Amino acid sequence: MEVYFLGIGEKGFRARQLLQWVYQRKVTSYANMTDLSKTLRETLQQTTSLDLPEIVGQQHSADGTYKWLLKLKDGNCIETVYIPESDRGTLCVSSQVGCSLNCTFCATARQGFNRNLDVDEIIAQVWIANNALESGGIFKNSKDKGLFIHNDEDQRRPVTNVVMMGMGEPLLNFDNVVSAMRLMMDDYSFGLSRRRVTLSTAGMIPVMDKLREQCPVSLAVSLHAPDDPLRDKLVPLNRKYPIEQLLDCCRRYVGENNRQRVTFEYVMLKGINDSPEQAKSLAKILGDVPAKVNLIPFNPYPQTQFERSNAATIDRFRDILLARNIFTVTRRTRGDDIDAACGQLAGNFIDRTSRSRRMQQQTVNFS
Ligand code: SAH
Repeated sequence: MEVYFLGIGEKGFRARQLLQWVYQRKVTSYANMTDLSKTLRETLQQTTSLDLPEIVGQQHSADGTYKWLLKLKDGNCIETVYIPESDRGTLCVSSQVGCSLNCTFCATARQGFNRNLDVDEIIAQVWIANNALESGGIFKNSKDKGLFIHNDEDQRRPVTNVVMMGMGEPLLNFDNVVSAMRLMMDDYSFGLSRRRVTLSTAGMIPVMDKLREQCPVSLAVSLHAPDDPLRDKLVPLNRKYPIEQLLDCCRRYVGENNRQRVTFEYVMLKGINDSPEQAKSLAKILGDVPAKVNLIPFNPYPQTQFERSNAATIDRFRDILLARNIFTVTRRTRGDDIDAACGQLAGNFIDRTSRSRRMQQQTVNFS
């Protein structure tokens, strides 16, 4: 933006002013940016755009979770989810319209893939959530002050954490996702710290290395199985980037930083990956990785062949990991009554990949 302003004969600091107008004061009309000259406002009006996706649906779960359906400029729709907790407010952000990875247990995969999101479509999800929650008065009157943190400007914001865990594989849209995450972390916009931004990947090894070099945010990896034959079936990307190489890459990611850990997501699928033996194998392969395991009870959706493991099975699995000194938590299911839980985001768009491949998803044999 500085380059842009210098290019039109303005001072570079206009970039900071503009960021503050848009991200901190939530002004999306150039006409109202009163400390910019009239001519500059007109130039901006003519040469740039401040458009936002349109909110075409907002759902509120009994547990406080919000889900927005956002319509993009080309008519495609994506979903964004806000999960309030006592000490934070986490926004689950989408990176693609659909997903091309075809993980067998995920609703987004079932929908197919259309395209990558642009930088503005990614950052707009954070803008829209903050704005909707603040202007809706939902948080202003909240007695639970824990829902807010204070940033340097002493402004209260509902979104304190961002997880790139919505629709899509963020590392297949690297440039746009990194630009958007940098913007989220910029002091002149949302000012989120690096540890409050988490990117989740199904395991794009070469791009994970690139992320470590260029934008080392907190990392989550969708593991879901303790061995290659099973992971090949659940996460087909594993055939290209198998577990051992993936774990090596995770060790590189945290490097010498002994305070950092990689979060491993593990969806609990009844009778598929939830046995005590599998818990022991998982503990074994993670033994020397700085890891944190997040067990996700499977969230069902229509026509899936999978079922959620029983609560007792999940507890037993967790206890086996804990007994082997692997830090493990079970992710509390949030927003499932409005289909906002992990793996349930589907949006509304036209699949541009082959339909027949989608259908194969239902015939994976786990016996
Ligand atoms: N493509 C990235 C980002 C998506 S994150 C990744 O794979 O990490 C969404 C998380 O929800 C992933 O860990 C995914 O494996 C998990 N998930 C997908 N379908 C699910 C379902 N039906 N129930 C529970 N978790 C699911």
